[in-house]
Amino acid sequence: MNMLDARIPSGPIAQKWDTCRYDMKLVNPANRRKHSTIVVGAGLAGAGAAATLGAQGYGVKCFTYHDTPRRAHSIAAQGGINGAKNYCYDGDSVMRLFKDTIKGGDFRSREANVYRLAQLSTNVIDQCVAQGIPFARDYAGYLENRSFGGVQVSRTFYARGQTGQQLLLGAYQALEEQIAAGTVVMYPRTELQDVVVINGLVRGIVTRDLITGQIDSHEADAVILATGGYANTFFLSTNGKDSNCTAAWRAYRRGALFANPCFTQIHPTCMPLRSDYQSKLTLMSESLRNDGRIWVPKKKDDKRSPREIPESERNYFLEVKYPSFGNLVPRDVAARNIKDVCDEGFGVGPSRQSVYLDFADAIRRLGLDVIRERYGNLFEIYKTITGEDAYKVPMEIYPAPHYTMGGLWVDYHLMTTLPGLFAGGEANFSDMGANRLGANSLLQAVVDGYFILPATVPDYLASVKPEPIDTHHPTFSEAEDEARARIDKLSGIRGKRSPDSFHRELGKIIWDDCGMARSDASLRRALGRIPELREEFWKNLCIVGGGEEVNQALEKANRISDFFEIAELMCIDALDRKESCGCHFRVESQTADGEAKRDDADYCYVSAWEWKGLGQSPVLHKEPLTFEYVPLSQRSYK
Ligand SMILES: Cc1cc2nc3c(=O)[nH]c(=O)nc-3n(C[C@H](O)[C@H](O)[C@H](O)COP(=O)(O)OP(=O)(O)OC[C@H]3O[C@@H](n4cnc5c(N)ncnc54)[C@H](O)[C@@H]3O)c2cc1C
Repeated sequence: MNMLDARIPSGPIAQKWDTCRYDMKLVNPANRRKHSTIVVGAGLAGAGAAATLGAQGYGVKCFTYHDTPRRAHSIAAQGGINGAKNYCYDGDSVMRLFKDTIKGGDFRSREANVYRLAQLSTNVIDQCVAQGIPFARDYAGYLENRSFGGVQVSRTFYARGQTGQQLLLGAYQALEEQIAAGTVVMYPRTELQDVVVINGLVRGIVTRDLITGQIDSHEADAVILATGGYANTFFLSTNGKDSNCTAAWRAYRRGALFANPCFTQIHPTCMPLRSDYQSKLTLMSESLRNDGRIWVPKKKDDKRSPREIPESERNYFLEVKYPSFGNLVPRDVAARNIKDVCDEGFGVGPSRQSVYLDFADAIRRLGLDVIRERYGNLFEIYKTITGEDAYKVPMEIYPAPHYTMGGLWVDYHLMTTLPGLFAGGEANFSDMGANRLGANSLLQAVVDGYFILPATVPDYLASVKPEPIDTHHPTFSEAEDEARARIDKLSGIRGKRSPDSFHRELGKIIWDDCGMARSDASLRRALGRIPELREEFWKNLCIVGGGEEVNQALEKANRISDFFEIAELMCIDALDRKESCGCHFRVESQTADGEAKRDDADYCYVSAWEWKGLGQSPVLHKEPLTFEYVPLSQRSYK
């Protein structure tokens, strides 16, 4: 079997999903309760999938390492969710969202999947409104929209700066309904340690109870990973501190291929690093670029306060360079330009590593109340952290690691290369190519969770009919023993360095050498340093306390051990891809004016890596990409 058969239905793109659903096998309602499914993750993708499969009548076990699904990282999403409703009558359509997403991803995503994302976006908005999500509305009660980077229409639905929170509360209520109905059993504070493969099919998982340390097995007919992304490999990122790659990584180690690991998104508008001891970076939502204007002084190292710098001495560099899109160029383009002006010495703020995001014009034009209404909570966050009032002085912002387009390779059914193992939301690589457009990630998580997985998982169950199995199978015991041995090893090292000190150092290597700009030399340097640091980690790690109690240092160390390995794969992937595309900027491959220069002749494929063991070179499999509906072209936002 071709390991990378994407199972894309034939026929015109607009009919592929209908064709696929029509061809699917169904499970009789009376038989559904006989099938067990596991959903790991209770963010938007996981909660949506668990609730919908439960509502269909399947037995679902849902796992999260958080104390409640409401703490999933999805809750942090601020800006909005895309839907091609064309409520603003500004030329939007499913086809346009499809095209914007393909182009935004710099032609490194799969057309069929992206079209489906755009197509289902309209259902998503209806679903969310029916759930009672309090999207912003105008005075007459109609749903409001705003714009995000890389597009020229307003199609982003939002709930002030708390869209993820409101969407997750909707998904959580749907999940709670099924928990009460007894179809979903919830396992909070329980972390996946391994996936279990028996006779070529994924048949369950091994978990660790984060309160007692107990290692357990759970069997199922199919397993869904909806476990989020791996941006925290960088240590400093906009993600929740606990977000990690362990679930996807352990699946990779068991044979699921990992796609495009080097496609990591650095978000342009975040609060800059202010201290070496900082443990997190905070996002200032992209929605702010609707009304905020980005600028730096025209004079290098200008120490005047921003309000003392007259208009004629300001460089609104995005508006100048990209007149069509202005401040709303896509994230990769904005982030690189911000880095460039700072590297050239025009940066502002104490570290000179920031640019201004200024609302003075918008306040003059629209009034303070409108700006407060649109972005009030973001201004409050900014004030809480910096002490500054951004209604009066411009925000200082700088790019930060934010989102990962790479993830487990999945086919059109969102199944990984391990039969029976599915991946949804940020955990898969499915739709974003080399750069995600703003407000498309909540969309993907919701589409995967509510609409795609609840159709494709039953098709798998009806087609494969997995044999009954229980956790006494020796493969479960072996996986449990391995999980225990790993925990014992980590807690038994008794060295001198804390988990965080290793993670911080790893993050700096990856940020410096595989961050916003990568070169052959920087990547080779990182590939030399990461294994050395990993070796020291396994010899000199210090964890206080043991494995049979709440031990957050141990939890961290367990996750960091995987960050080491994924960091290496990110560099291997980035080294292999000698072109620049989207967020993957190889300094050797740029146009005369410094934009990413793709090489479609040699790199128009998805990279899917196969694990071959620690210290062994992973094997690259390629899924060729073809563009039938959006012809390959050089991206231009000018
Ligand atoms: C600050 C911020 C703002 C954002 N704003 C927007 C926005 O405005 N619009 C937009 O479209 N996107 C936005 N995004 C991106 C978007 O929020 C995420 O990509 C999306 O919410 C991911 O959802 P998910 O369900 O895939 O994963 P998550 O919400 O990250 O959920 C992961 C779940 O998996 C569980 N889990 C993980 N590993 C394990 C394990 N080993 N064992 C058990 N459970 C596990 C976690 O407990 C959690 O329940 C933003 C991201 C950030 C960081």
